[in-house]
Amino acid sequence: MNIHHNDPIPVVDSYDVVVCGGGPSGVPAALAAARAGARVLLLESTGQLGGVGTSAGVNSLLGGRTRNDATPCIAGIFDEVAEALIAEGSGVDPTAIPNAMYQPFGWANGDLAVGFYFEPKAMISLLDKLMIEAGVDVLYFTSFVSVDVQDERIQHVIYHNKSGLQAVATKAVVDATGDGDVAARSGCDFVKGRESDGLMTPATLMFRVDRVDQDKLESYIRDNESIRLKEIINDLKAKGEWPFDFDIFISQQSPERGTFMINTSRICGVDGTDGRSISHGMMEGRSQVMRLFQLMRQHFPGFSECRIIDISTSLGIRETRRIKADYTYTLADMMARKEFEDTIGFSGYGFDLPDPKKPSVQPTEEQNIKAPDVVPIPYSIMVAQPIKNIICPGRAVSVEREVLGPLRVMAPCYAMGEASGLAAAMLVNGAVDFSRVDVAELRSKLREAGAIVDIDAITKVTT
Ligand SMILES: Cc1cc2nc3c(=O)[nH]c(=O)nc-3n(C[C@H](O)[C@H](O)[C@H](O)COP(=O)(O)OP(=O)(O)OC[C@H]3O[C@@H](n4cnc5c(N)ncnc54)[C@H](O)[C@@H]3O)c2cc1C
Repeated sequence: MNIHHNDPIPVVDSYDVVVCGGGPSGVPAALAAARAGARVLLLESTGQLGGVGTSAGVNSLLGGRTRNDATPCIAGIFDEVAEALIAEGSGVDPTAIPNAMYQPFGWANGDLAVGFYFEPKAMISLLDKLMIEAGVDVLYFTSFVSVDVQDERIQHVIYHNKSGLQAVATKAVVDATGDGDVAARSGCDFVKGRESDGLMTPATLMFRVDRVDQDKLESYIRDNESIRLKEIINDLKAKGEWPFDFDIFISQQSPERGTFMINTSRICGVDGTDGRSISHGMMEGRSQVMRLFQLMRQHFPGFSECRIIDISTSLGIRETRRIKADYTYTLADMMARKEFEDTIGFSGYGFDLPDPKKPSVQPTEEQNIKAPDVVPIPYSIMVAQPIKNIICPGRAVSVEREVLGPLRVMAPCYAMGEASGLAAAMLVNGAVDFSRVDVAELRSKLREAGAIVDIDAITKVTT
């Protein structure tokens, strides 16, 4: 059954660019578009910016440096944010961390070691300040609802907040919801999850603990050469005391010694585009967190006195929709180290998309393939079809699933967001649609803004 409600939706304003979603792709998109002179509205369904990095408790930006030698491969607004946080003592420069197997903020010789660790509250305040300085109108607690499309262009964006349903007119839309919500609602083509069965990689509810005896944990890790405590977990499994599908423990130290971010729960079968499924996922996530916490206190070295200081209020979703754009980036492209004329950024991260049913298994590891040290990001994978004035940076880009690994982490989302914001400003200033943006000009604008768009600008890459 359908119901039809006939209340007219007021059109309350008119913008050049509407950015839906204020995560690592929406934030730089809004800033770049506003700094290029566009009048920008940013809609965010939570009460803060930063996306998964702040609302879902993932306080480490990966992919901004190469894994082999920590050379920066992403700059621009990503660097501006990182530098500002380092300057105020709320972010940790990864190159300042000593190279040992156990490091306070990640694991040496692994992808985590070159992450940028930040304090979430400081990040949230900084992003507010940057929006105010750039003149972006931000609407918090505001969810994108729908669009009014005419002639394959979005004319109005409809959203909901405490004021009820409202609409704004717009010339361009950046869909930075991570889920391609706007693209899907506008009638753009997309796929969801694994090609064979539509299943998506497991979700995670993050939590943080303090009062960890870090000396004890460090010496256990060194003595046993065990980062993920697999032997302890296997022992518990053998005794029938481990109730989970996952069998590795993933944790990261915060700037404050003894405080850890726990990225371990794995909730299978969640569809992050389905309201009911997300709610079930939150409940299952909290239940996993509480059971895991008890086991950590009883069995994990250094955790006996730990206490939970927060459990995220948003579920961490790694995968949902991927748009079908002008170009779809394939695994074969990536492994052949294909170069693109429309490169707008790079990622230094590798494969990382656990099996939907086996949450501790990385299919690419089983296939024994390793991603290149730097992966170029073409502009065309963000250009959704057939709607002409929507661009989709971030986790919903047009790629084969495996390519999501390097691209979905937060630093590359910053690079994609900045490029899409500048492209949106070009649309406002004359370009007809996102497919016809002059990419040479866009790359030149990105260079001027300090972004890295040329492989030669990444100086120390060896492979
Ligand atoms: C558990 C987990 C651990 C991860 N670990 C890391 C890590 O250590 N380092 C790393 O770099 N990356 C990590 N990632 C990946 C990374 O965090 C995400 O892929 C990245 O944040 C995607 O950025 P985004 O801007 O596309 O989307 P998001 O970060 O999801 O941001 C989307 C924003 O849009 C808002 N939004 C969504 N729908 C609507 C709507 N309809 N209306 C209005 N607003 C809306 C959301 O509230 C959110 O703020 C992890 C992801 C998960 C889930």
